[in-house]
This record gives sequence, C-alpha cells and structure tokens, in this order.
Amino acid sequence: AKHNGRNAYEFYVESMTQEILARLDMQSKLRIALEDRDFVVHYQPQYNMKNDTLIGFEALVRWQDKEKGLIFPGDFIPYAEEFGMVVGINRQVMEMAMIQAAKWHQAGVYFRRISVNISIEQVEDDNFVIFVKKLLLKTECRAEWFIFELVESQVMKNTETAIIVLQDLSDLGIEIAVDDFGTGYSSLAYLKHLPINELKIDRSFIMDTPQNSDDASIVKAIIAVGKNLNLDLIAEGVETEEQKEFLLSSGCERVQGYLYGRPMSSDDIDKKIFNLV
Ligand code: C2E
Ligand code: CA
Ligand code: CA
Ligand code: CA
Repeated sequence: AKHNGRNAYEFYVESMTQEILARLDMQSKLRIALEDRDFVVHYQPQYNMKNDTLIGFEALVRWQDKEKGLIFPGDFIPYAEEFGMVVGINRQVMEMAMIQAAKWHQAGVYFRRISVNISIEQVEDDNFVIFVKKLLLKTECRAEWFIFELVESQVMKNTETAIIVLQDLSDLGIEIAVDDFGTGYSSLAYLKHLPINELKIDRSFIMDTPQNSDDASIVKAIIAVGKNLNLDLIAEGVETEEQKEFLLSSGCERVQGYLYGRPMSSDDIDKKIFNLV
C-alpha cells in the first residue's frame, strides 16, 4: 500500500478476521447458553378455522441473553447448526415443552397437542427413542400429547435408522409432521415409507396467496396430496382473512399464523387463551 496506507486486500483481511472473531464469540456464547439453560420456549397457537377451536401449539425456541435480551431463532439456529449445537438446544426445548404440557394438563385446560421441532441428527440416533421415553416418564406426559416436526429437506433423506426411529416414535404414540412442506425440492416418495401424520404448508406459499395464482395452485396441489394420502394439513403464516377464506374453500381447515395468534410465553397463553389466574 503506497498512498493512503491501506489497499483493498488489507480491508479484506481485516473483515475476514472480524468475521472469524464474531463466529468464535458466537460459538462460546452459545456453549455457555446451553450450559446455563438460557433458552426459553414460546408457544404459538394452532386453530381449526372451521369451528374456531384450539388444536394446540408449536413450541418455538428463543435465546434469553443476559445482555441482548430475547434473541429469535433466525439469528442463532444457523450458527448452532454450524457448531453442532442444535441437538442440545432441541433437547432442552423438548424438555421444557413437556414440562409445560404436563402443567396445562394438570390445570385441566384442553389442547390436543404440542408441536416440537426435531432435527435429522436426532432421528438418525438410535438413542433418541430412549431419550424421549425417559423424558415422557420424568415429566409425566403422554406420547399422544406431542407431534414432532421435521423439515422436508431433512425428512426426505430417510436413511435406514431414521425410518426405524420415526416408526418407533409413531408406535409410541407421537405423531410426525413434515415441516415447511413444499420447499424440499424432493420427490414425494418418502411419504410412502415414513409414518407421517401431517403436512405443514410452508409460509412462503401462503404469503402471496391467493393473489399470486402460482402460489395458490401450489397450495391447492399440496392440499390434494395431503387429502389423497390421508394426512392432516396445517397452513403456516396465515395473516389475512383472505388467506383464511382461500384455505377454507380449498379444504385446509387448520392454521398457525398471526391472524390467530403470535408465539407467546406460557404465562401469556395462561392469561390470554386459557384464562388461568
Ligand atoms: P418454523 O418451524 O417454520 O416456525 C414458524 C415460524 O414462523 C416462527 O418463527 C413463527 O413465529 C413464524 N410465524 C408463524 N406465523 C406467522 C405469520 O403469520 N407471519 C409471519 N411473518 N411469521 C409467522 P420463529 O419463532 O422466529 O422461528 C423461526 C424458525 O426457527 C422456525 O421456523 C424453525 O425453523 C426454527 N426453530 C424454532 N424453534 C426451534 C427449535 O426448538 N429447534 C430448532 N431446531 N429450530 C427451531
Ligand atoms: Ca416448525
Ligand atoms: Ca414450519
Ligand atoms: Ca416455514
């Protein structure tokens, strides 16, 4: 660098160094968060639009950081995946969701199920079923109170172990949902081999429906697949009355979206939905 001392290369090196340092910082913060159990679960209600009844909730993780406050999964799950920490986070979320499910059942409020996100690493591990059984016993929960969600891009891999583990979970009484359905760029053959109960239509297809006729067609096609294979359907990200009417008239009755409720703390669910305390 002759003139002002710094050329593009040096700036490049500097920004790379900063990125590496930021990643290392994220890695150690996430590790501490796991140790300290700094994750909390929020619950987003799922409804049947036809009769306005509550079906249940999806358990969604948030990171309660000492300094930054509540951090949303989009800002840390990708890192956790990179650092191999997703399984650890998912385990804590599952335990918290089960403890909460038991509380709600003891309080006598009605909901059919809680959806919990799982990852392919969990399903490819023989010990996962034992882990789940122990957790159910410890928290005094019934398997039937839960549905596990696996994103389509992961479920389509359906390796031998995954098939067995999903079948064991299903035999236990836990339902299985394919999350973000339609985004996996996959053949649908896996639907025949796996014990799947539900398809979750991805928000990206719902967002511009019904104005965008391509998206509307995709949603209708997904509903047709679901109905033909006798699977439950649920649409994510429903925000407007128009989307609701479109889905109802297309044959999808179940939703999870801001139109019906945002993810909330269990305290807020107690107050706003169950009228407890
Ligand atoms: P997801 O599984 O597809 O979860 C649904 C996301 O859509 C949630 O975002 C939810 O707040 C959001 N959403 C629901 N309805 C609406 C709506 O009407 N409009 C809009 N704009 N958004 C809506 P959230 O909580 O930020 O979670 C983002 C993603 O993080 C989840 O997407 C999931 O992939 C991941 N995630 C959340 N919890 C966990 C977890 O416990 N484990 C793992 N591995 N991933 C998780
Ligand atoms: Ca999900
Ligand atoms: Ca989803
Ligand atoms: Ca989604």
